Amino acid sequence: MIRILFLPTLFLFSCYTQAATVINDYFVFETQKEVNIYYHRVLGLKIFSIVKKLPQQRQDFFREKTKEIYQTYLDQYQLTEKEFPKPFVDIVSGFHSASFSRHVRGKVMQTNLITLGKDEIKDDPDMLIAVLAHEMAHYFHRHGSIQSKYLKANQETNLELNQENNYGEGIINDSKLQTQLNYLDKMHYYLEPESSNYLANLPKIRITPKSVPDQILNSLADYEFNTQAYTVDQKICRSEVKTILHNIRKASSFTYNDIQELSYTLKRCELYRIGSTQEIFSHFYAKENYKHLFENTKQKAQDPEHANYLTAKSIINKDHPLTVMLTHFYSQRKAVKKALEQIQFDKLIFFSKENQADITSFGILESLNLEYTILKTHQFHSQADESCEELSQEFSISRQRKNSFYYGDSFFNSHNAQCWRYYRAKTMQEKK
Ligand SMILES: [Zn+2]
Repeated sequence: MIRILFLPTLFLFSCYTQAATVINDYFVFETQKEVNIYYHRVLGLKIFSIVKKLPQQRQDFFREKTKEIYQTYLDQYQLTEKEFPKPFVDIVSGFHSASFSRHVRGKVMQTNLITLGKDEIKDDPDMLIAVLAHEMAHYFHRHGSIQSKYLKANQETNLELNQENNYGEGIINDSKLQTQLNYLDKMHYYLEPESSNYLANLPKIRITPKSVPDQILNSLADYEFNTQAYTVDQKICRSEVKTILHNIRKASSFTYNDIQELSYTLKRCELYRIGSTQEIFSHFYAKENYKHLFENTKQKAQDPEHANYLTAKSIINKDHPLTVMLTHFYSQRKAVKKALEQIQFDKLIFFSKENQADITSFGILESLNLEYTILKTHQFHSQADESCEELSQEFSISRQRKNSFYYGDSFFNSHNAQCWRYYRAKTMQEKK
């Protein structure tokens, strides 16, 4: 898998600052030592460079190709090294092929670091070339610093061989769909990132380690219990709420019913509040993300169709701030589910960062007469050459569209299926 590492920006601030070189808004690594510090101390991952362990001949080949592909980017886009700094490419064990971003003074910055996972490129020189060109495209387009998963949702679908294949008709002008997709884009951070069955999972709030709900509940626990409890009742309540929070995080999922039950206990502990609901929200959300929740609440609480209906009801009901917060998680998921149900995914083709990286890298490799490496890579990855050929036939003859071919393996994976990538590369080559 070729992935781009995308760190959640909400609560992850790297406190580790080092003398950095920032060139044209890229965070530039220059030495292996800097990179190792980044792997281990900033990311906290067990990633190890294996470049030095490779036979000399392979090291030379790797360096030569890195230089060649980088130079082609400079030539093709007429850039100087100041505009597009040299990449720092590392072949690694313990991690996949990726392009990296990092927080620098509250800002998400694209770095020039690219890893090639040793298991992904195997010992195959073609694989190394294709993956390298693809990851360099992520770096080139600063994909790591773009929050949105889909680049302008579908507005750029024309880039995707659409017209002659009859893809994406009418989508570009569908403003309702644009709104829904932009909404999903914004919301997907609040959902668990690894779910393959996103629709079935939405009614439950799942708390996976380091997910946003987990981080919020964890901070709430701290926030709650760092304050003083004076009376016996407060002490009992404190212990009860603590147990509830602990159980929710441990159970790793909860339903609206659970929230209702919780609300009952919390109501009883009304005396022991943890600040006003607005204060709690301001603690965890940026102002533009929570302010609207406290406006026109009466109106919203009467409109079951409104996205924040349940949250508004909970606010009007003067629920404990924790109840409001949990209800809000639930509302968000409910709204996402509704949006997902309304979108006809089988009629869509997404233009994601992955699409852009594939297409850009194809152009780069084409000028080096190396585009065959992409075809080979996708064919190899799909491990079913014949069925991939068959599917390609089907794509071009019947113009059948299947969700999974555009959407990748899951809602959260914006990589297209390998057969589709193979088909696209093949079509692009034939069009030459
Ligand atoms: Zn990628």
